[in-house]
Amino acid sequence: MNNKDLEYFRTLIIHNYLRVIDKTGVSAGLSNNSAENLNNLLRVAGKEGRSARPEEKIYFFKREEEYMKHLIAALERIEKKEYGLCVRCGKEIPRERLEEVPHTRYCVPCKSNA
Ligand SMILES: [Zn+2]
Repeated sequence: MNNKDLEYFRTLIIHNYLRVIDKTGVSAGLSNNSAENLNNLLRVAGKEGRSARPEEKIYFFKREEEYMKHLIAALERIEKKEYGLCVRCGKEIPRERLEEVPHTRYCVPCKSNA
């Protein structure tokens, strides 16, 4: 992948990351205070779904946290210029798939065999 494409996907991923921060009010990965992150997420989850059960709120937190970790990992792969290569088979991941899921680590065949 050339530098121009790497730059394009870096922007896309940062955009997605900022959108999660906007939605949740936390920056997991930037802050080590996960108790604080959890509280913020629970607050947001409570606002969005007042009737949500506690286990649903925890699920919400875990899902957002996982997603942010994936985005950070993708940015690290961009820095190392490993972005866009399947971590399993080493082949290039098709651009359409990266557009759809910018933080993906696998090409479609490897993902479906995972
Ligand atoms: Zn693969």
